[in-house]
Amino acid sequence: MGDILNVIKGNDSFIISSHINPDGDAVGSQLAVYSLLKDLEKSVCIVNRDPIPFIYKFLLENDLPYISLKDMEMAENQNSWMDAQVAIVLDCASLARTGDALAEKIRKFDKIINIDHHASKEEFGHYNLIDPEACATAELIFDLMSYGDIRIGRKRADYLYTAILTDTGSFRYGNSTPKAHDIASRMIKEGVNPQKIAELVYEVIPYQQAKLFGMSLDTLEISTDGKIAQMWVTNDMMEKTGTTAEDTEDFIDYVRSLRGVEIALFFRETEGNNIKASLRSKNNLDVSKVAAVFGGGGHKAAAGCTIQEPIGKARKMVVDALKKYQHWEKA
Ligand code: 5GP
Ligand code: MN
Repeated sequence: MGDILNVIKGNDSFIISSHINPDGDAVGSQLAVYSLLKDLEKSVCIVNRDPIPFIYKFLLENDLPYISLKDMEMAENQNSWMDAQVAIVLDCASLARTGDALAEKIRKFDKIINIDHHASKEEFGHYNLIDPEACATAELIFDLMSYGDIRIGRKRADYLYTAILTDTGSFRYGNSTPKAHDIASRMIKEGVNPQKIAELVYEVIPYQQAKLFGMSLDTLEISTDGKIAQMWVTNDMMEKTGTTAEDTEDFIDYVRSLRGVEIALFFRETEGNNIKASLRSKNNLDVSKVAAVFGGGGHKAAAGCTIQEPIGKARKMVVDALKKYQHWEKA
């Protein structure tokens, strides 16, 4: 950690990147590091492939320098951020998780700091702070600040609290460790209002999204033994309801919440007509290994992958892989 703080202190310009489709941990961790670097009067820009999801916009300040590669039509003309001295990559199990185009650019940096809590422990940075025991990347940012005796303050407390709240599934997943609760408690003491944050993150479902959920719920299927449940969303459903991929993010939680279900699956058609699969496990089955069969990855209890097949076939491939893997586990 001392190394990383020295690199931060010893350089002037930074970019902070995270994974495609940033989640609460990605956004919260990025903002916390951003605010720390601003306090140190560094030049800093957040660069991700995708825009920040609506539900996390309440965390943003007006003048936040944020580049989404997806939104940049003339990406090649706006590359001054590439002159930064250091790239800080957060919540990414591999550099490729930033998206192919961005990964290629970050790879050229002389100094890459990699801070992450995924189990794959890929040390793609020149400086790596990786701890799969950490509940969220935000926990490692908290550790880094504690190590450096850096005051958290109200703003950063909001960022870190939101990151931990969302990455632990509101303190319901296996990563809801004593430390997760301990940091949350400290953040509340710094002034975070948990009721307000929960309202801003969870109680802002747009009407159109609710309609899409209704359509998706119609697709719900449960295996004969009741242990594997799945639901899906097609491009057609999103078109009909005027929604986007972002609207489907929490649908898998519903599948997960069904009685007796041990493996929850959610499938979504992508713009390129590939299938994005999300896998969640409530027993000991490591779904990141199943996702890895299709070139994806993630955590033991939450993983994902993209399959270049029509939705029916992709669904069957994942279920078949799960059954095969369950079989190996027992053997
Ligand atoms: P989600 O299903 O919410 O998209 O992803 C769950 C977890 O799986 C994420 O935290 C992320 O770590 C991982 N994940 C999702 N999609 C991919 C993927 O395509 N490749 C890899 N390596 N990990 C993924
Ligand atoms: Mn995370």
